Amino acid sequence: MAIAVPAAPTAEIPTIPLRELLPWLLMFALLALITIFFVSADQGAISIPSGNAIHEWVHDGRHLMGYPCH
Ligand SMILES: [Zn+2]
Repeated sequence: MAIAVPAAPTAEIPTIPLRELLPWLLMFALLALITIFFVSADQGAISIPSGNAIHEWVHDGRHLMGYPCH
């Protein structure tokens, strides 16, 4: 007596053309650069907003990434 095994469902992997991905890649690259700037350099070497609030908010991240701080 044979046991009927149901066929495994098939799934198609969607493909996204590079032309559609490029704007998203550029946006996230820009966001990453802005974030790295605020973590690494802002209110250290240079300061766009005055004060030290951004430095205090990202202080642990600055140490985690090895940027000179104090
Ligand atoms: Zn520090």
